[in-house]
Amino acid sequence: MTNPVLTIVVPCYNEEEVLPETVFQLSGVLDSLIEEQLISSSSTMLLVDDGSKDATWPLIEQFHSVNPFVTGLKLARNAGHQRALLAGLMKARSYADCVVSIDADLQDDVDAIREFVVRYREGYDIVYGIRQSRSTDTWFKRATAQGFYKLMTRMGVNIHYNHADFRLMSKRTLDELDKFQEVNLFLRGMVPLLGFRSTKVYYDRKERFAGESKYPLKKMLAFAFDGITSFSVTPIRFVTAMGFVLSALSIVAGIYAIIGKLLGSTVTGWTSLVLSVWLIGGVQLLALGLIGEYVGKIYKEVKRRPLYIIEKEAISDSTQLAQSH
Ligand code: UDP
Ligand code: MG
Repeated sequence: MTNPVLTIVVPCYNEEEVLPETVFQLSGVLDSLIEEQLISSSSTMLLVDDGSKDATWPLIEQFHSVNPFVTGLKLARNAGHQRALLAGLMKARSYADCVVSIDADLQDDVDAIREFVVRYREGYDIVYGIRQSRSTDTWFKRATAQGFYKLMTRMGVNIHYNHADFRLMSKRTLDELDKFQEVNLFLRGMVPLLGFRSTKVYYDRKERFAGESKYPLKKMLAFAFDGITSFSVTPIRFVTAMGFVLSALSIVAGIYAIIGKLLGSTVTGWTSLVLSVWLIGGVQLLALGLIGEYVGKIYKEVKRRPLYIIEKEAISDSTQLAQSH
């Protein structure tokens, strides 16, 4: 087997604090993999600046000028983690044989990349990095993440437990991923849909090397909600079922009321009446909200807006013309 060209894609949003260490560690990984003849010497890392407000892009340009492993992509504005990642993957597939995606904050074990490459060379198209321990995350992050995976699985979405976006994908799987035209990106749900031969590699998740999580609770909830409503119709089915049960109950109640009326007993006050009106009003609002969520999704998909806009590139021609050898 010729040595494959590897590109490590790293989405970066306001990561000036960690970036030097990330570049250092990833360069070390690339260096030793080349040394071991596991990957081609034209392998690189692609740092995608997701519209950072700090010095992330100038740093990337600076690294690019001194470190041949470093290439960069600058998005015109903040597109979000998933889209920034996709931008990097789609760029890299034009010259790489396989692509590893990893977060900038060094929470994922860079040493696992070697194992990814070994699996790829054994013939696997997709290698999922699976977190073995979450001991360094706060209990809150752990609990919410766990609840999220459980909920997703229960709603019939096929995602790998404890797998984030740390994975290797071969060029041909990325070519297939490119055919997915969805705007509501949830890559960890989409990749398993591709099929192909895949395997898992286990690693320990570490603490963020520096800087703060760019996923505050609000973003995390939005991400989870997106993941569920983009992949599952269970919530809407639940609403339908609830509507069905309520309708059945109201028919029974109606019959009861009519019989009561015929027998001469009158309606005893309006409290119960008002309460039931409220209840039904509430249920209807809930149902409408959920339906609105799906309609909103359709609206977004139909618009076909570009997912990201690339402003600048820092990728040398030799990288773009990379050949496996
Ligand atoms: N990120 C990004 N755009 C965003 C938010 C985050 O590219 O709008 C990147 C960020 O720089 C990091 C990765 O996505 O490399 C994961 O973010 P973070 O580590 O903050 O999330 P957490 O690990 O806390 O879930
Ligand atoms: Mg992180």
